Amino acid sequence: MDPTLPEIAALSRDMARETRGWVILAEGNISVRASAETMFVKASGQRMAHAVVEDFLEVPFAPLLDLLDQADASDDDVSETFDCWSTGGHRPSVESLLHAVCQTLGGARVVAHTHPLVVNSLLCSDQADALVKGAVFPDQIVVLGPRQMLVPYVDPGLALARVVRAEMSRHLALHGEAPRAIYLRNHGLFALGDSPQDVLNVTEMACKVAQVVSGALTIGNVDYLTPAQVDRIHSRDDEVMRRSALLRTPLPTHSDGRS
Ligand SMILES: [Zn+2]
Repeated sequence: MDPTLPEIAALSRDMARETRGWVILAEGNISVRASAETMFVKASGQRMAHAVVEDFLEVPFAPLLDLLDQADASDDDVSETFDCWSTGGHRPSVESLLHAVCQTLGGARVVAHTHPLVVNSLLCSDQADALVKGAVFPDQIVVLGPRQMLVPYVDPGLALARVVRAEMSRHLALHGEAPRAIYLRNHGLFALGDSPQDVLNVTEMACKVAQVVSGALTIGNVDYLTPAQVDRIHSRDDEVMRRSALLRTPLPTHSDGRS
């Protein structure tokens, strides 16, 4: 069943809990597929911590993907397109372009973008590639899959969405599946999933991996699992079952009355 907007608003508030350290102020955004042609995406400037269903705007994929295809498209063209979808003082986030790439090429139904402290500590260092050189422990593979993607720093918006689309196409051609976590250097994390619980799991695990890798780097070198060990975990029946069980875990509910 497709996630509902109240579920996505609840996910947004959950991900923005202060104790997590994933976003502050109006950082981050979430999208959910609404149909084969459209998605709901958080409006720019709205705080994830206070999200309500009215903060999400429905935008079509086709015009967003057209902008990426037009080599001469400018920031003004992006503004013009986004202005058409503005309503009630709300305008879709500029990262809607990247969300559209994750929702279409990446095949995700829910996408969450955050700036977690522990992940950004590595992404803003010269050790960012330590996050994607390999897997460091079995649960990382269960939740994040065998490999994740790291993209260089690119101006957010049109340029960034184009780079992620090109890198994701390369990743798909090489590995046959989209990454569940995309790390953006000097910026943050995109979690791709089928459900709200899925992107919550991916973000939590990406944070744990970042913490473990950072810790390992302070002690010495990171000791990565071998490709054979990674393949073994990725294909074991009990690990596949464990992943699907994790996805069935219900989202924490909130009692603040908002939906
Ligand atoms: Zn961001």
